[in-house]
Amino acid sequence: MIGVAVLGSTGTIGDSTLDVLARHPADFRVVALGAGRDVGKLADQCRRFRPDYAALADPDRALQLERELRAAGLTTRVLAGEQGIEALACLPEAPYVMAGIVGAAGLRSTLAAARAGQRLMIANKESLVMAGPLLIAAARAAGATLLPIDSEHNGLFQCLPNGEADPAHGVDRLWLTASGGPFLRWSAEQIAAATVEQAVAHPNWQMGRKISVDSATLMNKGLEVIEAQRLFDVGPERIGVLVHPQSIVHALVEYGDGSFLAHLGAPDMRTPIAYALGWPDRIETEVARLDLAALGSLDFCAVDAGRFPAINLARQALEAGPAGTTVLNCANESAVSAFIAGHCGFLDISLLVGDVLSRFLSGNLAGTACETLEEIGQLDRYARFLAEEWLKRSPGGGAEGRALG
Ligand code: MG
Repeated sequence: MIGVAVLGSTGTIGDSTLDVLARHPADFRVVALGAGRDVGKLADQCRRFRPDYAALADPDRALQLERELRAAGLTTRVLAGEQGIEALACLPEAPYVMAGIVGAAGLRSTLAAARAGQRLMIANKESLVMAGPLLIAAARAAGATLLPIDSEHNGLFQCLPNGEADPAHGVDRLWLTASGGPFLRWSAEQIAAATVEQAVAHPNWQMGRKISVDSATLMNKGLEVIEAQRLFDVGPERIGVLVHPQSIVHALVEYGDGSFLAHLGAPDMRTPIAYALGWPDRIETEVARLDLAALGSLDFCAVDAGRFPAINLARQALEAGPAGTTVLNCANESAVSAFIAGHCGFLDISLLVGDVLSRFLSGNLAGTACETLEEIGQLDRYARFLAEEWLKRSPGGGAEGRALG
């Protein structure tokens, strides 16, 4: 029986993880559940899975959770704050950790799991983008096993020999597919007027709002190019992106002999989660099986960088070194929050990120090595400051933003 800690348990990755775990009660035990603010949902999960530990990042709500669990007669130990979540990542009785907290908020706990030498199932792509070299080095030093949950990277991992993109084994290029998001066939004018509700309505995947907006700008794919570079240690020129609207082929590995190995599956996160839990074996899920005959055809096309500039911004950040990708991520998080809050228009997201990135590159923090959390924290605050400045300055920025839905 293997103990599992699920961080971000009330989000979509958490739901999918608990669904897979519930199907394998003889093999896995839910030892710890961690979330941000959703007391009601976490209390429900505790009543169902009876973990030894639960933590909420919001300390006041952690007190509320404690009261609810005691009233329900549960003995689950409740921890509070970011330290509480970090503690769950390091439990010896839970050597499998699902890092499912979205954004920079998941960085400390993801790094803590790496340092503790856990099986780190990494769904938090932002921590690889913000702190990739630090995280990879920590995992290596502690002997942690890093297994990607992001569907494209999980697919690459499955198609690579021993999960490694070593040219000595004939690996040439890695290909990530992108659905193209809800605006794939929209004109530039239509995209400029896109509302929040339109941006979060992803055609294939049920996801949280932040990643859904990232999928609409295609910044999600930009972050994933960086994530692939970090995970598989390949140059950006060896990582390609293909638009594939059906989201059935998640990734392809191109070999020097002309072979392409592709990973196919229904767009359902339970498949990569089950793979990471079972690896190197496979465990069953209730995911609907592909019916290729019913699908009939699969389509592919190149990315239109004119309407979707985000992938090139990510490549530019990657060229700039570790500090570049930290700043890109933080600027993007600021821009997406501002868009969701109605403080800027959809196109402003990429404009803001591009502006923050170029200001940063011409400033004196551009060479930051990003070897410590303090350095990364400093860049994070700097990028968010530049983003705030941009929002105040931009013609349509601020409360009366352009293209409000
Ligand atoms: Mg993905």
